[in-house]
Amino acid sequence: MSSSRLPGFYNLPLDERLKRLAEASGVSLGDLTARLEPGQADHMIENAVGTYALPLGIGLNFVVNGREVLVPMVIEEPSVVAGASFMAKLARAGGGFRATCTPPEMIGQMQLLDVPDLEAAAHRIEAARDGLLAEADAIDPVLKKVGGGARGLEVRRIQDSPIGPFLVVHLIYDVRDAMGANAVNTACERLAPRLEAITGGRVHLKILSNLADRRLARVEATIPLKELAFTGADGRAFSGEQVRDGIVEAWAFAAADPYRAATHNKGIMNGIDAVVIATGNDWRAIEAGAHAYAARGGRYTSLSTWGRDAGGNLAGTLEMPMAVGIVGGATKVHPGAKAALKLMGVQTASELAGIIVAVGLAQNLAAMRALATEGIQRGHMSLHARQVAIAAGASGELIEKVAAQMVAEKTVRIDRAEEILRALR
Ligand code: NAD
Repeated sequence: MSSSRLPGFYNLPLDERLKRLAEASGVSLGDLTARLEPGQADHMIENAVGTYALPLGIGLNFVVNGREVLVPMVIEEPSVVAGASFMAKLARAGGGFRATCTPPEMIGQMQLLDVPDLEAAAHRIEAARDGLLAEADAIDPVLKKVGGGARGLEVRRIQDSPIGPFLVVHLIYDVRDAMGANAVNTACERLAPRLEAITGGRVHLKILSNLADRRLARVEATIPLKELAFTGADGRAFSGEQVRDGIVEAWAFAAADPYRAATHNKGIMNGIDAVVIATGNDWRAIEAGAHAYAARGGRYTSLSTWGRDAGGNLAGTLEMPMAVGIVGGATKVHPGAKAALKLMGVQTASELAGIIVAVGLAQNLAAMRALATEGIQRGHMSLHARQVAIAAGASGELIEKVAAQMVAEKTVRIDRAEEILRALR
């Protein structure tokens, strides 16, 4: 794929857009339009009665680690795809997104109860560490073959709990290109009897932690000052300095106040979840990890940082756990997920993680830029107005007509949509 810039994509009719996407990406129309069938869903969950569709859009303009990438985004909320694409365009003027990942190490937890002497048990586990690791390492030969496996064993003492003190053993497991929940849970279950034999205790829970703080994805981007200047819809001009400083002030609010940080991080997750869902990954796991990580210092705070670089440009970073896979789970079962991975051309889970955090940072910037300048409602207005028009019963050409009139009147409400609709009919 030569470029993720597809000028005029927005204005094409839907079927033309699909053709354009197939041409630009080299992914066939058949792959791009393949959908999950009810028969497949029946094998995925219990009591299946069908499938449930959401809009799929394409995030444009992304350059991640020097590579052009078209990003599939599954989301029901207006403005997210447009916002991320627009900010990716600003970021590409500063060289695009630079992403790095720590090794794909997940944490499996084993809760050790009924141990008479916690310290003695902890020492016995530490003394047996090499044997325990060798056993854990041999559990998944497929994973071992691709370079994954057991990496470490840690004993933690939980002092303050409603049932009194107990031990927790963490198994650190490199899961390579998998999300890793099944791999880690299996390893923990297999290791438990040996831990019980060593300590004389009882291993109660055996399950991975979604606070995947050893599997972090980090991204940074620089937005050249001149890219930030713009003139608003009402003719108000914003200088680059004004927009930059407004964004830094907005970020400071999120850094200092959990009420704002929750909404700030929700904006990041608008971008993150859209790609996680598009690729068939577990977005609850990503959400849980993100918010737990945001609270790691004892106070919930922003997952991103924004400031100015030495040249006065706007510089942003985002760091968070990113337990996503390109094998396992639904990634290889869901035809849409397979097409999504093909479209991005990712070869490793880390590469996918890097793209996902780039979209998160872009989306974060889109929300802050709007909030720090014109306010969020203007950008939301036209798509929101279309949804309200549809809810009021408009169809076909009437959707645009009703929406346009409501936007012009600055009154986007269902009762007004119904009135306009009656008048037009
Ligand atoms: P999986 O078990 O389906 O696939 C992983 C396996 O694929 C590995 O164990 C390995 O044997 C094999 N494999 C082949 N090539 C590989 C490669 N290059 N890299 C890594 N492994 C390779 O899937 P999983 O990722 O272990 O589990 C993901 C699923 O678990 C998701 O559907 C998730 O929803 C679910 N889950 C999540 C939680 C949680 O988040 N708390 C708990 C339970 C289950």
